[in-house]
Amino acid sequence: MLSLSLPEAILAFFAPTLIFLMLLAMHIVLPAWRVTGYVRDEASNELLKYRLNGLLVFAIAVLVWWFEVGGIPRDWLFRATFYSIAGSSVLAVVLTAILVAGGSTKQSAKKGASVWAGRVLNKSYFEHLDFKMYLYIFGGTVLALNALSGVAYHWELYGFNSNVGLFLYAGMWLFFVTDYFCFERVQLYTYDIIHERLGFKLIWGCLTVYPYLYVIPLWGVTHFPSPEFKGSIAILTYGGPILLFLFGWTLSRGSNLQKYTFKRWPERKFLGVMEPEAIASANRLILCSGFWGVSRHVNYLGEFLIALAMALVLGHFLSFWVWIYPIFIVGLFVHRQRTDDVFCAEKYGVAWDEYCKRTPYRIIPGIY
Ligand code: NDP
Repeated sequence: MLSLSLPEAILAFFAPTLIFLMLLAMHIVLPAWRVTGYVRDEASNELLKYRLNGLLVFAIAVLVWWFEVGGIPRDWLFRATFYSIAGSSVLAVVLTAILVAGGSTKQSAKKGASVWAGRVLNKSYFEHLDFKMYLYIFGGTVLALNALSGVAYHWELYGFNSNVGLFLYAGMWLFFVTDYFCFERVQLYTYDIIHERLGFKLIWGCLTVYPYLYVIPLWGVTHFPSPEFKGSIAILTYGGPILLFLFGWTLSRGSNLQKYTFKRWPERKFLGVMEPEAIASANRLILCSGFWGVSRHVNYLGEFLIALAMALVLGHFLSFWVWIYPIFIVGLFVHRQRTDDVFCAEKYGVAWDEYCKRTPYRIIPGIY
């Protein structure tokens, strides 16, 4: 992966910036769904407005990759990975400098907000571009392209003797990202949009960690030949993780969608069957039925099962590389759940204590 010629290495370094600008241009120019969001502008207290077209931008990017537009081979992004990580990190530093420097507010000065955590919650330009939502378009798109490119690299090495698990792995990421874009509006009701500020943590996370480091397992296993499972072992090795992935997705998508439905239409039954039950605080409602009655963050459990399925499906159980992503996810979500709990306790007051009594488990029902 390091054996690029000097001109290629330079191109690889600047690839994230070029992709960033191309996707940004597409996002701005292509038609979009205009929606009112959930979060309020910190200055005007108006609900923020968004233009959503991630699915369209993503679909075009995948077609460009597939048809090798510009003569860029399908495996090139993967071969360019290390140089691109350097390039995307530098881009993150530059964007942080621009966004954080221009973002001091009274509130942030009081809180002493740092470059790491950010100062402003949002940067939107003329109701046409919401910078945070765009960062997720970049992150998700490049993540899927990197996964596909890694498989193309493996195919170049092994052809018809390739590891089926790698194709399934890339298929899972493709599904994951497509699903995200299909439900892009639901993202407006999640922690990243409600609480995360535009600092280096979020910007580098979306430019480097999410698109390049989530597929770290590929660095370790694309060179390996197929583990060659046969018969019922193969069915178990590949079928088991697919079922686990779908189960995890059901928990994660189901709970996020239920919360979204509840926030928009508090009286409406989720999917026409799940009756909403709520605990009322001063001016807010806590959903405590369905997925949100199983544990306080069953969506994180779903996400962990997805990560576990992705590790297992590769078929290289003894390789440390494949376990890096699930281990990261455990750390991320244990920390995030605790932080979100503190935010929610502040927002909802005693009603949150009541919810915690009623739904005592944080993530895994009966265990944690
Ligand atoms: P949530 O979507 O759960 O958002 C948390 C917020 O939702 C809270 O701050 C609160 O905000 C509201 N909320 C929480 N519980 C309740 C309740 N019972 N009733 C009503 N409102 C509630 O968290 P995330 O944004 O972290 O996760 C969203 C999805 O994204 C998850 O599926 C997660 O797994 C996934 N994700 C994936 C990542 C990855 O790297 N793979 C990274 C991060 C997230 P308020 O009351 O103000 O509405």
